[in-house]
Amino acid sequence: MYIPPNHPRRESLLVRERIVEGYKKGLVALEGLIAHGRGECFDYILGEKTHSFALKAIEAASAALLLAEHPVISVNGNTAALVPREIVELAETVNARIEVNLFYRTREREEAIAEWLRKHGAREVLGVGGNASATIPELFSERRRVSPRGILIADVVLVPLEDGDRTEALRRMGKTVIAIDLNPLSRTSRTASITIVDNIVRAMPLLVETAKGMKGMDRGRLKEILRRYDNNRILQEAVKKIMERLGELSRSRLTLDIG
Ligand code: ATP
Ligand code: MG
Repeated sequence: MYIPPNHPRRESLLVRERIVEGYKKGLVALEGLIAHGRGECFDYILGEKTHSFALKAIEAASAALLLAEHPVISVNGNTAALVPREIVELAETVNARIEVNLFYRTREREEAIAEWLRKHGAREVLGVGGNASATIPELFSERRRVSPRGILIADVVLVPLEDGDRTEALRRMGKTVIAIDLNPLSRTSRTASITIVDNIVRAMPLLVETAKGMKGMDRGRLKEILRRYDNNRILQEAVKKIMERLGELSRSRLTLDIG
């Protein structure tokens, strides 16, 4: 689809196009399109930019990933379609494993995503086929299948765009869960240990950059960053920002002059 360079919603439309392309390539599930639309709505209200609460969460997330013994990046269709390069770069930076973990799991989609990630430089992709032979407790059906070398033994899991049930199940297993979710009120956001309330297309490059910058820090400093981090406060700040933005808009002129 052609989007004119001066279109006011160009950036957002280009990202949407990548999701549609991902669907056509067999990476994204039909439900993934709906999830993306919900994200767009929150992004619109947040002014489509990265706020300070997201930057603080990104710093804490980098510290958690760098301190982790077995960090894992869990990848679903939307994540793979939007930020394949960043997934691979982050995995290399913090020495994490990459695992395909789908809400609507099919063999075809699993393999298409793994292949797509390898095309972007991933050396090993877990969670495909017989590889996802372990199960996480309290979840039913295909959603509970994980790799015994990946999520099952992970101490820190990055789950961009995860669903609430699974986030909760991972927390109950004692794992530190880092979520990227534009909705600060979703169950995922509220159950995660660290929630980055930002669009994944902006947050992932920043996470890679921040992790690279913090890689040389000593463990004591990284632990101190984590110790000071308060996810509840971060979510409150995100909700306050939404209120502020809507407050300003409610007092401003909303009709647009045409011609
Ligand atoms: P939960 O199960 O956590 O309560 P939900 O059922 O409301 O969440 P899902 O459909 O499970 O939502 O997942 C979609 C989530 O992903 C939404 O919260 C949406 O805001 C978020 N999301 C979608 N696209 C993006 C994106 N590009 N960047 C960040 N977050 C996104
Ligand atoms: Mg859900």
